[in-house]
Amino acid sequence: MEKLKKKFGKKIFPEPAEETPVVVPEKKEVLPNIKIVPLGAGQDVGRSCILITIGTKNIMVDCGMHMGYQDDRRFPDFSYIGGGGRLTDYLDCVIISHFHLDHCGSLPHMSEIVGYDGPIYMTYPTKAICPVLLEDYRKVQCDIKGETNFFTSDDIKNCMKKVIGCALHEIIQVDDQLSIRAFYAGHVLGAAMFEIRVGDHSVLYTGDYNMTPDRHLGAARVLPGVRPTILISESTYATTIRDSKRARERDFLRKVHETVMKGGKVIIPVFALGRAQELCILLESYWERMALNVPIYFSQGLAERANQYYRLFISWTNENIKKTFVERNMFEFKHIRPMEKGCEEQPGPQVLFSTPGMLHGGQSLKVFKKWCADPLNMIIMPGYCVAGTVGARVINGEKRIEIDGKMHDIKLGVEYMSFSAHADAKGIMQLIRQCEPKHVMFVHGEAEKMEFLKGKVEKEYNIPVHMPANGETCVIEVEPKMDIRVPLEKINKSIALDPNPSKLECPFVAEIVYDQEKETLDVMPTTRLVETEDFMRISLSLSEIIKVIKIDWNQIAADLIIYDPNLQQKNDGIEMFHGEITLLANNEKGTELEVIWDESREGWARVVRSSLLRYASPEQTPPPEPQEPPQEPIPVQA
Ligand SMILES: [Zn+2]
Repeated sequence: MEKLKKKFGKKIFPEPAEETPVVVPEKKEVLPNIKIVPLGAGQDVGRSCILITIGTKNIMVDCGMHMGYQDDRRFPDFSYIGGGGRLTDYLDCVIISHFHLDHCGSLPHMSEIVGYDGPIYMTYPTKAICPVLLEDYRKVQCDIKGETNFFTSDDIKNCMKKVIGCALHEIIQVDDQLSIRAFYAGHVLGAAMFEIRVGDHSVLYTGDYNMTPDRHLGAARVLPGVRPTILISESTYATTIRDSKRARERDFLRKVHETVMKGGKVIIPVFALGRAQELCILLESYWERMALNVPIYFSQGLAERANQYYRLFISWTNENIKKTFVERNMFEFKHIRPMEKGCEEQPGPQVLFSTPGMLHGGQSLKVFKKWCADPLNMIIMPGYCVAGTVGARVINGEKRIEIDGKMHDIKLGVEYMSFSAHADAKGIMQLIRQCEPKHVMFVHGEAEKMEFLKGKVEKEYNIPVHMPANGETCVIEVEPKMDIRVPLEKINKSIALDPNPSKLECPFVAEIVYDQEKETLDVMPTTRLVETEDFMRISLSLSEIIKVIKIDWNQIAADLIIYDPNLQQKNDGIEMFHGEITLLANNEKGTELEVIWDESREGWARVVRSSLLRYASPEQTPPPEPQEPPQEPIPVQA
């Protein structure tokens, strides 16, 4: 009794005492847990870095940089991993979801400075673009800001040598137990969700994703049948159900048009790849349609470089781009030209797409400082900005901002339009519905927003939702999965007996017992359980009298033998299933038929009773209802 604190599963059917066990447990499995610790992006946006442990395997997903800090806080705290030992000894692999620096920015620091020599996985486009963005960022930090304690160009090169490219849907066996698989995530070129699997348990990590296609990329797509134990989803826009895209686009075009008509300058800080391309396509066609000739500039080199990547990875874009690419390159623009040196000093209106997107340094910050005091000008922030960046302070409406030790008055118009491709509340709910995870975890979002969506998911889908803070360990107790071997002979017999052959269910009789001390599962026949654990077996008999015109035992036996080929016909009745269903005459005249059955045979008793109703006398009430064979697994006699 002591050991049996908790019982799993449902008693399927108690077996007859003399029967040998049908079910053979393949192995007693120690219950594995899934442990997840965010080192970044726990109740926060920025510096995504999450440690996942499934059984004995340790995986890091994303290794981002926090753009809001200039000191070591921008890196995840690697000393946390494996008690401060060598990362290579502890981590089985690192996976990067996409090229945004808040997801991959700390990678060279981790691999070359902290030291990690194990495998790093990312999709092929991410592998191509990642080093370019890392180098751009390094230049801003070292050449412009004069930092000396930062990773070098060589560090980036050496780090990238450790990277293994992955194709979509390809199952990559990291070792004999751990496998990973990438799915299309939309968001930016090459962005992927990753399924991480160890045995029966899996984690689906979304990275950043969007569930609706945009002008140049498709919507996130997970293959049917992917059912993760836990889904780790970003929640940047957890409380937003964004207005229609068209309305947002119209609004954007109107704001830009109004400003340039008044002679103002518009700056749009963007990331090099992603939203930039989408907004360029939009503005280009508007300029064409309205026959405008105000210059539009794009950060030097970026347009060409972006072009090259989209051409190389055309299969990652949406159908529309793929089609038009053959006739015309969607990213070769008539109205948008590369930025000329000093063009921000030119008098008169202009539009400038400039990097980086959060005004945390580089050219966009330099131009912003020059334009921010003129109320004729406008800044359009098309994406999310991490707290602490100049971009975030501008969005918050601050009127005086200190940048690099100098105060700036912010007089230009500020518009925040969320064009960045993240899933909104509707999209997140849609993904959960699609992949039916057992647990959900939110990361990459703000705590209050997560809390709101957590309530919604728990209420609507009845799935537990976790939202650990950075450094907080979340342990997911997984339900054990067990392999059970049923002899073929039993299965064949069951199929032969089943009155509904399309229903290929194999009945078996067993108790599933969980030992809480040893954390093991066992399958045992009810009889054995009764013997070993001092349980008393109580059986309950039920009976019903059916009024009939006449009892013909031969006829009845012939009817019922299809349900039990071993049925015993006696002089005064019939025994089925070793006497667990008995049929007797209830009076001398033979006008009352009594059916007695064990509670455990309720399913079969229904079938038998329904079959007998054809002999019922007209006075039998209530009128018989047609009966289906039992829906639960059908017991088989050994
Ligand atoms: Zn992103």
